[in-house]
Amino acid sequence: MTWRATVLTLFPDMFPGPLGFSLAGRGLATGLWSLEARDIRDAATDRHRSVDDTPAGGGPGMVLRADVLARAIDAVPDLEGRPRLVMSPRGRPLTQARVAELAAGPGPLIVCGRFEGIDQRVIDARQLEEVSIGDYVLSGGEIAALTLIDACVRLLPGVMGKLESSTDESFSAGLLEYPQYTRPQLFEGLPIPEILLSGDHAKVAAWRRAEAEQLTQTRRPDLLAASRHPVCQKPPKNA
Ligand code: SAM
Repeated sequence: MTWRATVLTLFPDMFPGPLGFSLAGRGLATGLWSLEARDIRDAATDRHRSVDDTPAGGGPGMVLRADVLARAIDAVPDLEGRPRLVMSPRGRPLTQARVAELAAGPGPLIVCGRFEGIDQRVIDARQLEEVSIGDYVLSGGEIAALTLIDACVRLLPGVMGKLESSTDESFSAGLLEYPQYTRPQLFEGLPIPEILLSGDHAKVAAWRRAEAEQLTQTRRPDLLAASRHPVCQKPPKNA
């Protein structure tokens, strides 16, 4: 069955947007994956098609209504067995491991918030998993959803093709990727590291591994700590 993303949004025209280009776009056009953007407003019942109201307890802005959103979710066919996500800065930060899980499944439903956010009751009642793409606040969930879908789609069989591979990439082994170089051999007096031109595959692999470890140690020591974590399940003696 084809991997698919179903997005609930107030701005369906934002999709596929950038996902219509390059490898993801080709994959979409050739049916390697599919995308449906549904308008939350279609689930409104009043004359003005309203989807939001003022926050209970006061405060600025508007909140997406639980009843409208619940109707929009319930109208999605074949939701059984698919992850139900809601993009939210309060959610669990998205990781490459979660992306790989989502790419291996049937494809998620993704709810995009707007305004001050979404009435908590629909998150609870429809058991939506809150997912964040980083510690900053966007004006809506659409760009976050596009980011998540892009990260998943490039892992689907056939999308990246043989020339590009996700195996050595940043986060795939709990490390950031080693530095990459290509021609020209000399750029503004800076040469490509000699070893990469040696043709010795074992030495190249060892150099890349060492560079990846060094870079990760410097920039993201938290990744090294996390990948060591499973080994440290036993408490140390005398703890
Ligand atoms: N008032 C909310 C808060 O402080 O947590 C922020 C609401 S934001 C302006 C509107 C919508 O953008 C959110 O409901 C969510 O769908 C989306 N959004 C904003 N930042 C996000 C992030 N870092 N990750 C995922 N979604 C985000």
